[in-house]
Amino acid sequence: MRSTRFDIIVVGAGIAGLTSALSLQRDGARVAVLDRHRSGTEASWAGGGILCPLYAWRYPQPVLALAADGMRRYPDLLASLDSNIDPEHWVTGMEILDPVGEGESIESISVTLASAGIAHQWRPQGKHDGDALWLSEVANVRNPYLLDALVDTLIARGIELREQCAADKVLLSEGHVSGVSTSEGDLHADRVVITAGAWSEALIPGLPAGSLFPVRGQMLRLEPRSENGLDRILMENGVYLIPRRDGSVVVGSTVEYAGFDKTVDAEAQARLHTHACRLWPQLAGARITHRWAGLRPGSSDEIPLLGEHPSIAGLWVNTGGFRNGLAMAPATAELLAHRMAGRPTSMDPAPYRLERLIES
Ligand SMILES: Cc1cc2nc3c(=O)[nH]c(=O)nc-3n(C[C@H](O)[C@H](O)[C@H](O)COP(=O)(O)OP(=O)(O)OC[C@H]3O[C@@H](n4cnc5c(N)ncnc54)[C@H](O)[C@@H]3O)c2cc1C
Repeated sequence: MRSTRFDIIVVGAGIAGLTSALSLQRDGARVAVLDRHRSGTEASWAGGGILCPLYAWRYPQPVLALAADGMRRYPDLLASLDSNIDPEHWVTGMEILDPVGEGESIESISVTLASAGIAHQWRPQGKHDGDALWLSEVANVRNPYLLDALVDTLIARGIELREQCAADKVLLSEGHVSGVSTSEGDLHADRVVITAGAWSEALIPGLPAGSLFPVRGQMLRLEPRSENGLDRILMENGVYLIPRRDGSVVVGSTVEYAGFDKTVDAEAQARLHTHACRLWPQLAGARITHRWAGLRPGSSDEIPLLGEHPSIAGLWVNTGGFRNGLAMAPATAELLAHRMAGRPTSMDPAPYRLERLIES
């Protein structure tokens, strides 16, 4: 019979849950991860896999700090994987053709990027009045492969992964978490971590409605018939092209507040496709092989929620990655593990605390 008692139960097996589980197990805890579907099939699968925020200087400082820390931690995370699957980590660099928006300047952008430790250069270009921004150290991963490699690693480390197991609610006993009620019955643990992405709000008692919500992003994949020469992530006007190692190109993305709806619509797809071909004309005529949408976990102040519930001891949260959850994952997992173990953290955890949204 399968065990129903663990030290820590992690609810949601996307990038946040899988990386959190690995960091927590390394500290010696007996960890189980639940997912109501197959692991790694929601936002973390749908994303582009760019390991740096787009127009990074436009995010709140706590987001940029986590993303920059995540970028630095990726090589170690990848080296620690116990899997034959190659996540195709590729340092291509990212070129942004329209970096300077209203109220911004080359100087202000440079200062913000330098403070986060993100290498950057300005390059003259023919296309716009201003210079293009070149971020030479930006990488992308083939995120579906990364998720599969993380699952392999979890299993190799003895972490229990329960798929098709939906959490209904956390179980409480005298102000302390005691487990999770699931579609397979009650599972018990003194500590529970909610990493259920866009679906997390319903699992966190006391969180005001609208604190966490889905933000749809549509994508498409192009398979050029011949070598297209795209050797970097290229971005303009919110649309980006990501080269993959097999020669295909991923194009993204829309940002839509449309509830829990993963519909792909023809108009948005046509807009992405047209823009992609304008950005890199060699893509004209490339076959569109896939179109999809995913639901990013958005938060009301665009800052992730990471910390312990202010009035339910043992209930922890790691979600709200919004547009940068893949880039931030190694940093959020480490921050969570340090906080749960009561160790000092290299980053200030205060901006991510739940207290900003939940009254204790
Ligand atoms: C189109 C698009 C492009 C993106 N591009 C990038 C990018 O280039 N770079 C980047 O850094 N980020 C990107 N993102 C954002 C990134 O993908 C997300 O921030 C990140 O994947 C969120 O991970 P997560 O683990 O929190 O959520 P998810 O991956 O959504 O995982 C949550 C998991 O919880 C499970 N779950 C939900 N409810 C329950 C329940 N009740 N019981 C059990 N399990 C449950 C779900 O089945 C799911 O597997 C993009 C997102 C999208 C949609």
